[in-house]
Amino acid sequence: MLVRESMHRAGSAALSHLLSEGPSEARTIPCSCGQAARYKELRSKPVLTVVGPVAYQRPYYVYAQCHHAPNPSDAALGVEQQEFSPGVRRMLAVVGSDAPFAQGREQLELLAGLQVSTKSVERQAEQIGPREKRRWRVRAPREPVSF
Ligand SMILES: [Zn+2]
Repeated sequence: MLVRESMHRAGSAALSHLLSEGPSEARTIPCSCGQAARYKELRSKPVLTVVGPVAYQRPYYVYAQCHHAPNPSDAALGVEQQEFSPGVRRMLAVVGSDAPFAQGREQLELLAGLQVSTKSVERQAEQIGPREKRRWRVRAPREPVSF
């Protein structure tokens, strides 16, 4: 497992770098409430990916009135208000669908070298509907999962 660990470390460092952005050119972006969210600063977004923990810098916007923080960068990557990448969410759904959640956590560590809490397996398994779970187990989804 040593090789996988070092590949993961190299991969997550590269991914953190690759996904990081500079400060925003746009001072405001539309908020879901119809108002404009203001650019505040660059903020780090931590995400657990298939190659391990990643943190990337991206512009952070907030609208003080509604406290929404719409984030186009996170949305484009499929991780808006998510702590797991789409690939890891799929793994969590698969390991959490048949076996007890604690066993799912162990499977994820053994098969993918990823450390998550039992609660995370449970939460993801519950968030993802049974139809989607079945689809994921039976065959790969049409849309590619990038990370
Ligand atoms: Zn808003």
